[in-house]
Amino acid sequence: MKRRTLLKAGIGLSPLLPLTGMAALQSGQKNSAQVLVIGAGIAGLAAARQLRDAGSDVIVLEARERTGGRIHTYANWRGPAVDIGASWIHGAGPANPVAKLARKIGARTVTTDAEKAELYNGDGTALSARDEKKIDSIRREVSEAIAEQSRRGPDSSLRKLVYAETDYETRSALEQRIIDFTLNSNYEHEYSGSTDQLSRLWFDDGGSYAGDEAIFLDGYKVITDSLAAGLDIRLRHEVTAVRYGEKEGVTVETSQGVFTASAVIVTLPLGVLKAGNVRFVPPLPAKKQAAINQLGFGVLNKCCLLFPEAFWNTGLDWLQHLPRTGHAGEWAEWVSFARPTGKPMLMGFNAADVGTRIEGWSDEKIIQSAVSTLSTMFGKPVPAPLDAVITRWKSDPYARGSYSFNAVGSTPAQRDDLAKNISARVFFAGEATEKKYYQTVHGAYQSGLRAADEILKLNLRR
Ligand SMILES: Cc1cc2nc3c(=O)[nH]c(=O)nc-3n(C[C@H](O)[C@H](O)[C@H](O)COP(=O)(O)OP(=O)(O)OC[C@H]3O[C@@H](n4cnc5c(N)ncnc54)[C@H](O)[C@@H]3O)c2cc1C
Repeated sequence: MKRRTLLKAGIGLSPLLPLTGMAALQSGQKNSAQVLVIGAGIAGLAAARQLRDAGSDVIVLEARERTGGRIHTYANWRGPAVDIGASWIHGAGPANPVAKLARKIGARTVTTDAEKAELYNGDGTALSARDEKKIDSIRREVSEAIAEQSRRGPDSSLRKLVYAETDYETRSALEQRIIDFTLNSNYEHEYSGSTDQLSRLWFDDGGSYAGDEAIFLDGYKVITDSLAAGLDIRLRHEVTAVRYGEKEGVTVETSQGVFTASAVIVTLPLGVLKAGNVRFVPPLPAKKQAAINQLGFGVLNKCCLLFPEAFWNTGLDWLQHLPRTGHAGEWAEWVSFARPTGKPMLMGFNAADVGTRIEGWSDEKIIQSAVSTLSTMFGKPVPAPLDAVITRWKSDPYARGSYSFNAVGSTPAQRDDLAKNISARVFFAGEATEKKYYQTVHGAYQSGLRAADEILKLNLRR
């Protein structure tokens, strides 16, 4: 008999638990299922879809007023949509499961090209050929030092390793500026953690898919919307506690009543688990709690500026900026959407500690700082933007950051500790639980499928 038939016949999963909770009773909606999924990001949606397609009865509990989580498409501007969470399918070749999904639903994608890049000086002067040569050579020096030394010796921070290997203290002010720029643009923007916290041993432990870097013309939400279609998703249901001490099943307390099930899949972001606002009763096992405490959760913020027309070289996709002394890491990376999408939009990024600091500023201050940086880069005043969208992922109570990283003192094996189910009743998914493809949409997606499969297999064996 196929798995689908078994589950449809109700064999395997324990019987449904009784209905509880006033909200559900009042609305007439049931609040008991075979499986509850906490979080309607890509991991939760993938898990719920997989279980539903196998015939299981699933309810998804989501705190926000929308699905998608860290996939968030802003579609208020005319023309192609803007993603203010994840933008890219990293490595959109045939093996990438999200690329497969995109092809299956006929999503419109275009690619960006990291080679179409230019570096601008942040002190208002043009970079001389000599400066450019120096920058290339220092960038190479940093990446070679990391490649040769990072897997050696006791763990320490990436910055400590690079400062020691490049004799940072003895270098000229310009050279120090370039070293700091390289640490920020190459590592903090990619991994989201401060180079003071990224583990020299494990910061880049993981895998990647081959292929282009693809973005969605109609926004990443086409993927999450396609997974969410037809699922029982309860929005504005903030989970406050997960109880699994009773003999059977689980009880999940939310801002809108109590839900019960045979099993629960927790896809809360690592930042939310760290904050401890969702109570687990009994408390999580020590190894899992240690993984939550020790793995890092970083910040990457975006500021998208829509201009009346492009004033920059629209043949470029990436504009990099070497910040002036004392402003390391501010607005170091920009993406132009003019070539891939035709939209006169620049997206400025701020990562790690700088990202956290800048998100504390007012909208006006952030926009003013972004525009004045662009004016310095181009050596003349740039036009005022028509509109701007700013993210503050660190202050977002349902994310508390952007994505996980391997921090000093953590190990990749701790992602398995995070992923491990408790008593075959409390299952875990989400980007941070993925040992190979953490930080990414495709990693989160695969973690959701993995957790759903764990439940399906367990119930087939029972
Ligand atoms: C700015 C930014 C840029 C990124 N760029 C890329 C990129 O280009 N490519 C890429 O592959 N990845 C990128 N990522 C990472 C990617 O977005 C994530 O890895 C992925 O979306 C995580 O999915 P998830 O399902 O694990 O978590 P989430 O999407 O965070 O889903 C968790 C869900 O749980 C909900 N929740 C939280 N607390 C509660 C609660 N108490 N009760 C109920 N629900 C709750 C949240 O609202 C959320 O919907 C980026 C992330 C950010 C923030």
